Amino acid sequence: MQKEKPMHVNLAHARTEEQMAVMEQIVHDGVCPFCQEHFLKYHPKPILKKGAHWLVTENAFPYNGARVHLLFVYLQHIVLPPAESDHLSELFELITWARKEYGIRGGTLLLRFGETRYNGASVDHLHAHLVVGDADKPDHKGVRVKVG
Ligand SMILES: [Zn+2]
Repeated sequence: MQKEKPMHVNLAHARTEEQMAVMEQIVHDGVCPFCQEHFLKYHPKPILKKGAHWLVTENAFPYNGARVHLLFVYLQHIVLPPAESDHLSELFELITWARKEYGIRGGTLLLRFGETRYNGASVDHLHAHLVVGDADKPDHKGVRVKVG
């Protein structure tokens, strides 16, 4: 009897056809795309920085209207935020690095956690988004995001 593979992505939360195609492949492969051993197979963007607990990369499928959209992916497979304060402080150190690197004058940090059916995430593996709207663009209408 074949063992059922765990689902680490939620196809209902795909935002583009391109993203859906990648996510369907991930479901077929039965893996978590944010676990380190699979990360670069599905994620086409380079790892910009890596700490002891998190890595930083650009979102392969940035939100519409975002000037900057970075992901901070926790290195271990967990779905709830870590309780260790040094793990969380490293996240904020990496955000400070990104703020300087990308000249960010204001942005939004989004950290979904737990079951994807409740939070709007496409991948259950813990990750945070740093989203910066393109407010200096005359026709900028803001960035809309699903959170639940
Ligand atoms: Zn994972």
